[in-house]
Amino acid sequence: MTTSAPGTTASVKKPKKASTKTAAPKASTRAPRKTAVPAQRVAPDDRAARAWARLEAGNQRWADGTSEAGPSRSPKRRVELVDGQAPFALVIGCADSRVPAELLFDQGIGDLFVVRTAGHALDEAVLGSVEYGVAVLGVDLIVILGHQSCGAVAAAAKTLDQGSVPSGYIRGLVERLTCDIASGQRAGLSDLDDLGRYHTRSTVDLLRARSSIVNDAASTAGLGIVPVVYELDTGLARPVTD
Ligand SMILES: [Zn+2]
Repeated sequence: MTTSAPGTTASVKKPKKASTKTAAPKASTRAPRKTAVPAQRVAPDDRAARAWARLEAGNQRWADGTSEAGPSRSPKRRVELVDGQAPFALVIGCADSRVPAELLFDQGIGDLFVVRTAGHALDEAVLGSVEYGVAVLGVDLIVILGHQSCGAVAAAAKTLDQGSVPSGYIRGLVERLTCDIASGQRAGLSDLDDLGRYHTRSTVDLLRARSSIVNDAASTAGLGIVPVVYELDTGLARPVTD
């Protein structure tokens, strides 16, 4: 994973007039790009690639123990953002307490629009939040953030393997993951981290299938979507490319 990405996460963007924006994604002139393309394989002027490079550099600092986003979490910065927000990236991540998006990407307040559910399960509220981030806030990149040792993935695999049915609303959550996990198992995967990686990549496809706003922005407006798996042991967030 390279750390030569332009830009630093310590710098902060001035708030755009994002809170009053409506409808279409902002960058109609962006070049179309495919999903899940690592930053080093796309044009350097691609806004989504620059967004990923910024996250990648921040993640490397986090992994190295050299985080520097502290100043962009200051009371001064907090006050600067009272009138609006202009996050450059959106993260759909797992709710796991060990996977805090702003920390592991070394970003400040106002930098990331984050939606978290266990196993980054997609439901209507998640999709609505994501569409807001894309259509109204105009983020350049969506990160699907899975991780090593995901309990939600393990619960879905257990349901399929043992027929155990979780109680309460946990059942509904697990049901949102079982199709991906079953598909991964049919593809020959059994290791839970391999299944988690499969689920993270599949969530990109599900997101695009469910949301025409996201799919259109990714197809024609340069929105990037990258599946990423965070390693609890190394601290690195690696794009899923297989
Ligand atoms: Zn998890």
